[in-house]
Amino acid sequence: MNSFTLTQVDSVAAAVADRVGHAESAYLSGGTNLVDLLKYNVTRPRHLTSLGHLPLHHIEPLPDGGLRLGALVTNSATAYDAQVQARYPVLSQSILSGATPQLRNAATDGGNLNQRTRCPYFYDLATPCNKREPGTGCSAIAGFNRGHGVLGTSESCIATHPSDMCVALAVLEAVVRVQGPEGERTIPIKDYHRLPGDTPHLDNTLRPGELVTAIDLPAQGYAEHFTYLKVRDRTSYAFATVSVAVGLEMDGDTIRKARFALGGVAHKPWRDPEAERLLEGQPASPTAFRRAAALVFAEAKGYQYNAFKIELGQRAIVRALTQAAAMNQALSPNAFLNSNP
Ligand code: SF4
Repeated sequence: MNSFTLTQVDSVAAAVADRVGHAESAYLSGGTNLVDLLKYNVTRPRHLTSLGHLPLHHIEPLPDGGLRLGALVTNSATAYDAQVQARYPVLSQSILSGATPQLRNAATDGGNLNQRTRCPYFYDLATPCNKREPGTGCSAIAGFNRGHGVLGTSESCIATHPSDMCVALAVLEAVVRVQGPEGERTIPIKDYHRLPGDTPHLDNTLRPGELVTAIDLPAQGYAEHFTYLKVRDRTSYAFATVSVAVGLEMDGDTIRKARFALGGVAHKPWRDPEAERLLEGQPASPTAFRRAAALVFAEAKGYQYNAFKIELGQRAIVRALTQAAAMNQALSPNAFLNSNP
């Protein structure tokens, strides 16, 4: 690990000023990803701005009926918060499906947004990687790409975003609050993470020096019809092969509003508004779910070891929508699940 200087700050303004005042600097919160990146020399900042003392550790109600998650609230505190569990259970479920209790106790909500891909080549300094060193190439495209993306990929990078929490935030249409040298602004979660294009070294749309201060959840939390389905190689401490978060508003067995997003398949949580619209006004049925799932993957591109995700992703969507629709309904989930999606 390279040496670096570190400053502890106690206000958001001081954090931004400290970061801007140091070249090659980074913010440090829970450190559950950044410290690995430092140890492996994947990233070599000369200065860290430590955020632990900032007053961003609270979950508070918003006047519009929503909920504000301070950026330094831990993933555990968020997942077990009574309001989150009652009103945004898809968020709680997604967080608890990720990492381990120890990691969730240290990781923060702001840090979860900004964690970097777990593409093994990104962490292996002996291999080319456009995300780590722009212009060197992508080792995954012709390499072992079983865990990589099939949607929105580019010739420069096929990495996936590793977060579970962000997939639920996409369904909830959360808003990220940031503060930077030019003041405060908000970024809808759908615009926060980027596709790789020809600039895969950029994971998100933060501007230089900007700090995430909070995540705002709208009032609608889909507490009556939701699910987070995570398909992975083992039942604990594994990233998603494919995951699906769902939030539905139902009127009897008719879908009034549909939101769903996928993890493990793209450089960002993947939502397809056209597929969501296809479901709205339709009775919940295997046929409707399969049509929506097929539309999501219509433009998918599989690589040597991950093409199976195209079929798996569609089946996961059908299953997740089925589970969410059947909650609190006379509908039987088994009626759908046994229908060979
Ligand atoms: Fe690097 Fe992206 Fe290719 Fe992985 S997929 S090796 S992160 S450029």
